[in-house]
Amino acid sequence: MSHTPTRADFDQYMVPNYSPQQVIPVRGEGSRLWDQQGREYIDFAGGIAVNALGHCHPALVEALTAQANTLWHLSNVYTNEPALKLAKALVERTFADKVFMCSSGGEANEAALKLARRYAHDHHGEHKDKIISFRQSFHGRTFFTVSVGGQPKYSQGFGPVPGGILHAEFNDLESVRQLVGDDTCAIMVEPMQGEGGIVPATPEFLSGLRELCDEHDALLIFDEVQTGVGRSGKLYAYMHYGVTPDILTSAKSLGGGFPVGAMLTTDAIAPSMGIGTHGSTYGGNALASAVALAAVETIDTPEVLEGVQARHELFRELLESINRKHEVFKEVRGMGLLIGAQMSDAWEGRAKDILPLAIEEGLMALIAGPNVLRMAPSLVIPDADIREGMARLERAVERLVSQG
Ligand SMILES: *Cc1c(COP(=O)(O)O)cnc(C)c1O
Repeated sequence: MSHTPTRADFDQYMVPNYSPQQVIPVRGEGSRLWDQQGREYIDFAGGIAVNALGHCHPALVEALTAQANTLWHLSNVYTNEPALKLAKALVERTFADKVFMCSSGGEANEAALKLARRYAHDHHGEHKDKIISFRQSFHGRTFFTVSVGGQPKYSQGFGPVPGGILHAEFNDLESVRQLVGDDTCAIMVEPMQGEGGIVPATPEFLSGLRELCDEHDALLIFDEVQTGVGRSGKLYAYMHYGVTPDILTSAKSLGGGFPVGAMLTTDAIAPSMGIGTHGSTYGGNALASAVALAAVETIDTPEVLEGVQARHELFRELLESINRKHEVFKEVRGMGLLIGAQMSDAWEGRAKDILPLAIEEGLMALIAGPNVLRMAPSLVIPDADIREGMARLERAVERLVSQG
């Protein structure tokens, strides 16, 4: 007799580091999901900004199954065609000349930080080791990346943190000027803070960071794990700002749901990651690369990218219309299809209370911190699904307001 898994199995068998919702989705298509009972949901969460083409997009299914019937994995003792095609596609579409592949955003950031340290060591000497990042930032869960991240709760209780890391205020150049110096090795920043509450950088801030890095021979690292691969309405968010980093990291949407990450850099910097300095068993895995190539080629087209901008407008308009009736939000912000609605003072800290109500109404959404309702749907979500999802969100908000 086969046992149908239940939510209680989570508590029995899984390490308790997550607290998943009660429903267990079993199937997805486009921007819809169905649970074990056959109940249907509209997906505004997108696997936390991962399922950039929704669920089971035909181009990704085709790339995955074709590769699955050909070759899965070789290790980096050999290279493989899908990895080479993906690297070329990323280089041709961005500032970068060279790519390092891995399997997650945290791993891409770990590589970026190690490369920056190594580059400074090779070119300037050991004293140049300071990394500046920002409060509320999020860069992953490895011990180096949680320490660089600006949320102390994620590194507390794990013993001595890696040294040489300084935190400034996001969107406040003066706070960076106070920390930057000739011992600065790199500045790491998200062009739009994701987990920290969907806060876009101002253009002056990013161009100011570029200038400070140039002045002090420091590398500028953009963490585009959440904002990258079409999410912002351009292939990468830096393209909106006209500010070019030295190193950029990408994951989440890059695989459209298949685990993959990449670190992009230039010919000048890449040699510091010489033979044997760094690696990853799964980096450049053939299955992952084949899916990521299909995702990049499908997303980086005028139709899809312009569609992201049009959908952004529709999201904004519908959120603002909900708000005119119920006044739960203080501000709607974001770029492309990474949208945050900050709760009003009266509803301070209550964003998470919307999520279970939304699920009961058939909508999956996200939060970014206690105060921001976050949406990161498929980049090709149909307008009809946006409107239906928003009608469900409105019912959830009505219930929140009537419950108080
Ligand atoms: C999600 C995220 C990460 C971590 O990615 P993982 O794949 O979970 O390791 C890093 N940086 C940003 C900006 C993210 O949003």
